[in-house]
Amino acid sequence: MTRAAGRWTTPATQALRVGPGFDLAGLDRRSTPGWSGDKKSAPDALAAQGERLSELQERLFAHGRTGGDRAVLLVLQGMDTAGKGGIVRHVLGMVDPQGVALRSFGVPTAAEKRHHYLWRIRRALPRPGYIGVFDRSHYEDVLVVKVEGLVPAGEVEERYDEINAFEAEVASSGTRVVKVALMVSLDEQAARLRERLERPDKHWKYNPGDIDARERWPLYQAAYQTALERTSTDVAPWHVVPADRKWYARLAVGALLQDALEGLDLGWPPADFDVETELRRLEASDPRT
Ligand code: AMP
Ligand code: MG
Repeated sequence: MTRAAGRWTTPATQALRVGPGFDLAGLDRRSTPGWSGDKKSAPDALAAQGERLSELQERLFAHGRTGGDRAVLLVLQGMDTAGKGGIVRHVLGMVDPQGVALRSFGVPTAAEKRHHYLWRIRRALPRPGYIGVFDRSHYEDVLVVKVEGLVPAGEVEERYDEINAFEAEVASSGTRVVKVALMVSLDEQAARLRERLERPDKHWKYNPGDIDARERWPLYQAAYQTALERTSTDVAPWHVVPADRKWYARLAVGALLQDALEGLDLGWPPADFDVETELRRLEASDPRT
């Protein structure tokens, strides 16, 4: 039996990157940009990707343990049901959990509200050696906040530049910022919300407020378009991932993460002891002899 092969004909970083002239409205959310195979090609590709990601993550962790300053931050944005949780489970799930620092951002708590919107974000940045994952992020502060009018429009307007400056600072501290917007279609979102309502094991994921946000879909899409075009920078570019096909979204985010880790170009840290000496010591260390 021959397995269906798949491959990137255009690297995910290139195929998905938000550049000049980006138009969210024109995105086919069932499409699979850059990938040549179909669903049957996904399992093998994911398994191979998992092995590579796992090694790269371990190198990053070793680097952090030996005084290095590099880290990776994966920012996940998307409407409800876009698949952010699935990315965490299936993509980050392929690497050692001790090296992943996951943080979900919901409605700010009373304590968080007393601070600048970037306060809780700064505190959650990954330490050297870690892959930080933000399930929602400071982008909520120009998305839901804008759509719901939670702060004056003029203030939202100033946030794009402020976010760019903040991310440039994060990048210059040694953290690679990978920003991913998972884009599900209105029809697929309806199907996924219906499933959450029809299956008792999914009720916990459902929030009646999801329907309110769904009703404001066009406003959210417009807010996404603005955020994506105003904050896709060289040091922290956005990638827009069509998310109606979960297998593709997972493969794509895995590829983006892999690219970021490969870009760190980390080897294994050299021993800070003399290996030959330690081998001799080991040989002579059996207390029974
Ligand atoms: P979930 O990710 O499904 O657990 O939902 C989290 C909710 O928190 C979403 O409805 C977000 O829009 C909301 N949220 C996240 N950050 C903010 C923020 N800064 N201001 C207001 N709502 C937010
Ligand atoms: Mg939700």
